[in-house]
Formats: sequence, C-alpha cells, structure tokens
Amino acid sequence: MPDDSLIPRGAALGLTGCEACGLVVEHAAADAPCPRCGSRLHARKPDSLTRSWAYLVAAFILYLPANLLPVLHSSKLFKEWSDTIMSGVVSLWNDGSYDLAIVVFTASVVVPLLKMGALALLLVQVQRGSAHLPRERTRLYRILEFIGHWSMLDVFAVALLIALVHFGSLANAEPGAGIVAFGAVVVLTMLATMSFDPRLIWDATRIPARRATDRHPT
Ligand SMILES: [Zn+2]
Repeated sequence: MPDDSLIPRGAALGLTGCEACGLVVEHAAADAPCPRCGSRLHARKPDSLTRSWAYLVAAFILYLPANLLPVLHSSKLFKEWSDTIMSGVVSLWNDGSYDLAIVVFTASVVVPLLKMGALALLLVQVQRGSAHLPRERTRLYRILEFIGHWSMLDVFAVALLIALVHFGSLANAEPGAGIVAFGAVVVLTMLATMSFDPRLIWDATRIPARRATDRHPT
C-alpha cells in the first residue's frame, strides 16, 4: 500500500480539478470559470458538509411520513382501506409471497435507511477530522454514488408493491401522501450524496502540504 504522506496533493501544488469535465487547472481563482467547459472551479465543493447535512436531515425527517402515511387509498363498493409500505409488505407475506415481500421490504425500507446511515457516518467522521480508514470510507462513498444511480428502483419497488397487493381487486385506487414523502426521501438522499465532497475524507489524513511538495518538486 503506498504511503499517503509521500503523495503530493493537488491543492498544495496549486492545482484544481474541474468537477464537470475533469480538466486540471493551475492556480485557478476560487469560482473562476473552467477554461474548457465554463463551470465554476473550486478546490472543494462549497459548503459541502452544510448542504449534505441539510438534505440528509430533511430525508431522515421525511422517512417517517414515508413509512407511516398510506401510499395507497383504495375502495371497492362500500369498503375503503389504506395501505402503508409496511402493511403492504405484511399482506404480501401473509399471502405467501415471501420472496416478493423480502424484495419490496429491502428496496423500500432497508436500502434507503442504509444509504442515509452510511452518509451520516461519512459526514460525522469528516466533521470529527477522523483519519481512520480513508480508503474504506472513500469506497463506501463510491458505493453510495453508484447505488444512487439506481434510486428509481426504490420508488419502483413501492409501485410494484401497490400493484401486487391490490391487482385485480380494485374498483378505485388513489396514491396516498406517503408516496410523495417516499419520493422526496429518495431525491433528498441523492442530493445529499451529490453534495458531499469525498476529498474531505482525505483532508483530515493530510500531512503538512509543504512536506509533500518538497519531496515532489514540480
Ligand atoms: Zn471543466
């Protein structure tokens, strides 16, 4: 494993990477436009931690109504009923569709919670200035980013749940407020992940910048 203390850092060498096109710019002023693509250059995403926390806390709060409020109101003749995500999973389970119940439960309850928990862990560690396991934490962030691309599956799982639970037996069905809250949780978690700057993980592990540049003069 390479010794991190010997690797010079871009910031110490006056280099800034463009987040949009990847161009490395020398001695760029903060907020200067990228010479290649025109997007704003900054050494770290501005207010990364504050933004990420704000989105994440909002997602945590909305996770409650997403699971407590009904995602579906249905009625048939004179009977009306509402289903939350959990009540839908339970009725799938009771119907004997164990595999589907597990898939829906995982995609719509466990995965969103794990994503939020993992990001909260990354944020807390950066705020504490932890230099512990930076590689593993960077990998965790990459996984979060990758899973984020598939966030529509979480919403799809809830849609699937509604279709499976009541398919064929419906006279009338309306989406409940829970589905809006659930969609908001998914979107807010994506925004929180995008706002986090993984380079902050490595900032705490840095050795004095001068030492790095001394050993690798440019
Ligand atoms: Zn650029």
